[in-house]
Amino acid sequence: MVILPEPLRLKLRVNFLILHLRGQGIPCWIQAHYRTPDRAHRWSTAYSVLSGKINVGDLRCLADGRDLDGNLWFKPEWAPGAGDRAPANEFAAIVANANELGPRKPVYAEEGYASTDPRRRPNLAEIPISKHITGRAIDLNVEWAALGGPWSAQADELIARYGLCRPVTSESWHVERNKAHGMNVPLRELFVAIWKYLLRRFK
Ligand SMILES: [Zn+2]
Repeated sequence: MVILPEPLRLKLRVNFLILHLRGQGIPCWIQAHYRTPDRAHRWSTAYSVLSGKINVGDLRCLADGRDLDGNLWFKPEWAPGAGDRAPANEFAAIVANANELGPRKPVYAEEGYASTDPRRRPNLAEIPISKHITGRAIDLNVEWAALGGPWSAQADELIARYGLCRPVTSESWHVERNKAHGMNVPLRELFVAIWKYLLRRFK
């Protein structure tokens, strides 16, 4: 018996879902699968800063204001009393800088480094490791409006039918394999979905 690696099992299910949606003329594609640990760390730390979870004191303590990857999170001249160059609001300067280091939108993002890894600082120890690091999560771009919205019963049902789940309630695009359930799609329906997709593609 061949057991496929976990990232491939996830991707197979996602690809079947994509075929199904495209067969119905609904645009859908994979936005992201794997994420490198350093990028996950940068995004996650930016989120922690933006959501006010990291104390300014912990940022001030960083050597040269940088983490071990070299990302700059703090400049001494932002501190109150640093002279004419200090911005009126230290926290505003920290936030503006973190916005530049995060993903395009400031969304929740998990870490890339283990909680004991010094490269994680200044991010918090309790933030979990992102499933994207090991390929166990995929971010999907779906035109959810065609399904009645991102969290409609129709969207939920479709995600479940392809053996997937969306464990992050603030991220409709983030899917993982539902290990408790396989795909619940009759073979005939799969073939119809693939057939419809091919028809649309080559007509
Ligand atoms: Zn994701």
